[in-house]
Amino acid sequence: MSDRYAVFGNPVSHSKSPAIHAAFAAACNQDLAYEAILVPLHGFAGSVRAFVAGGGCGANVTLPFKQEACRLATRLTPRAGLAGAVNTLFFDGPAWLGDNTDGAGLLRDLTQNLGCPIVGMRVLLLGAGGAARGVLGPLLEAGPRRLVIANRTEASAHELAARMPGAGAVSACSYPQLAGQSFDLLINATSASLAGASLPLPDGLFARDSLAYDMMYGADETPFLRLAGSRGAARLADGLGMLVEQAAEAFQLWRGVRPATAPVLAMLRAGSRQTGSQ
Ligand code: NDP
Repeated sequence: MSDRYAVFGNPVSHSKSPAIHAAFAAACNQDLAYEAILVPLHGFAGSVRAFVAGGGCGANVTLPFKQEACRLATRLTPRAGLAGAVNTLFFDGPAWLGDNTDGAGLLRDLTQNLGCPIVGMRVLLLGAGGAARGVLGPLLEAGPRRLVIANRTEASAHELAARMPGAGAVSACSYPQLAGQSFDLLINATSASLAGASLPLPDGLFARDSLAYDMMYGADETPFLRLAGSRGAARLADGLGMLVEQAAEAFQLWRGVRPATAPVLAMLRAGSRQTGSQ
């Protein structure tokens, strides 16, 4: 029987992770099966335990379960511990290793695929949920001049900034408090785009050469990228590259082989152009 992996989430039907891992497995000659599992909102722990009992070897975790996955893991990688959120689980008997590959995935997409250096840049991180937690530490390690976290619930932004002890470049605020500031790199880590909603961002945030990055991806331009384009952002990018890069990190953890990401990203872009699907 093939080794079993899965992504757990709610919703999860839109996930491209099964297609990505199937492509990685084919390219790396790995015998594995990967499925998407829709989890009831109060049933995450039970679903994961049933999967492990059925022979599951590893899992990805998507919204809204990343913080619960962090509590379920018996051991955390340092980056998952710093984030307080887990998007990758590796089951080894009773030991469940929790990792967070979102930050590494975003950094690889920004610096290698999009040529955005981050060092010395003014960075705005929108959102303070599981995705923002995962990427904050790696973003700060990349050496921005300053990094501001803004969130609808302002207290969560402050709580997230406080998780980074000694990181002087980071501060937190509400959306209205962004007025009068401008940024070189603006990252939407909220789930507003998932619901088709726009963020109430003040004018003037997008510097002339800025890159607007939405972690959300789909066939259509997201509300955040539409807004960024209309407010003068020079470059727009969705989160498909991050998705493929974070998946490659997880695949390497599980299988010990690093798959090439460019062909898989090209395949997904071509597929979404042809079908118009997410
Ligand atoms: P969470 O549910 O953990 O966090 C949601 C965040 O979005 C919170 O900060 C919340 O603010 C904010 N938010 C939700 N709705 C609105 C709204 N209408 N207006 C303003 N803010 C809003 O989700 P995740 O952090 O796990 O995921 C966030 C997004 O990132 C999702 O779209 C997800 O698909 C994407 N993602 C993409 C990845 C990729 O590889 N491309 C990887 C990981 C995530 P508040 O605190 O006020 O509720």
